[in-house]
Amino acid sequence: MFDERSSAPTHPPATWSLAGRTMVVTGGSRGIGEAVVRLAREAGARVAVLDLTPSSAGDCFVECDVTDTEAVNAAFNEVRRTLGPVDSLVNNAGIAPPGRFEQLTDASWEATLAVDLTGVFRCVRSALPQLRERGRGSVINVGSIAGRHRSFTASAAYAAAKGGVIALTRQLAHEFAAEGVRVNCVCPGLVATDIIRRNVTEEQRAQLAAAIPLRRLARPDEVATTICFLATDAASYVTGAVLDVNGGLY
Ligand code: NDP
Repeated sequence: MFDERSSAPTHPPATWSLAGRTMVVTGGSRGIGEAVVRLAREAGARVAVLDLTPSSAGDCFVECDVTDTEAVNAAFNEVRRTLGPVDSLVNNAGIAPPGRFEQLTDASWEATLAVDLTGVFRCVRSALPQLRERGRGSVINVGSIAGRHRSFTASAAYAAAKGGVIALTRQLAHEFAAEGVRVNCVCPGLVATDIIRRNVTEEQRAQLAAAIPLRRLARPDEVATTICFLATDAASYVTGAVLDVNGGLY
C-alpha cells in the first residue's frame, strides 16, 4: 500500500513566494485583476496583463480581446518572448451584463459566453504548451457565486457562463494533473469593482451588503490573495478546487 510517509519532500518547503514565476492575468487592468497583478508582483512574479484597456500595473501589457483566437495566440507568444514561459494563468477577464431572462437576446447571450466561458477555453488552449514546460503550471479561473448558486446582479447568461467555468475547471484539473498543471476556480461573491457599480444603484448595493453575513462587499485584494495563494507552491496539492470568497453569502 502507498505510504505517505515515504514521500517526505526533499525540496525546500512550500512557500507563498512567486519569485521566478511568470504569470498572465487577463482583464488585469482593473478591479480584481489589477489587485492580482499588484499582489503577484509583490510576491516576486513577473506579470503580463492581457486586457482591452492599457495598463502599466504589470511587467508587460499586451492588448488582447479574449474573444479573438488570433489575438489570444499572438498575446501568449508575445508573453513568452518578453517574460519567458507562463507558469500561472489567471483567467479573470469578464463581463456581467444585467437583465432578466425575458430580456436576453441571442446577441447578449453569445457575447457573455464568448468572454466569460469561451475566453477561458481560448486562453487555456493557447497557454497550455507553456504551462506544461516547467512542470509547475497553474490555472486559476475566476468563477462567481453566480455559477455556484445564482447571480445577484447579472443575467442568466452570466450565471450559465460561470457555471461552465466551474465544470471546465474540474475537467481540466483531471486531464492536466499528470503533467503537473493544476487547475482551480475562485468564486467571488460581491466585490466592490466597476461591474457592481455598473449594475446596481447605491441603494441596491447597501441592500446587498446587508444580506451578506460579513455585512460588506469584498475589496478586490481580498479575492486576489486567494487567487495568488493558488498560484504558489503552498497550494501544490490543490487542484480541481472551487473556492468561495463570498463573505458567507449563499
Ligand atoms: P472589472 O469590470 O472591474 O474588470 C474586468 C476587466 O476585464 C476589465 O479590465 C475589462 O476591460 C476586462 N475585459 C472585459 N472584456 C474583455 C475581453 N473581451 N478581453 C479582455 N479583457 C476584457 O470587473 P471585476 O474586476 O469585478 O471582475 C473580474 C472577474 O471577477 C470577472 O470574471 C467577474 O465575472 C468576476 N466576478 C466579479 C464579481 C464582482 O462582484 N465584482 C463577483 C464574482 C465574480 P475593459 O475595462 O477595457 O472593458
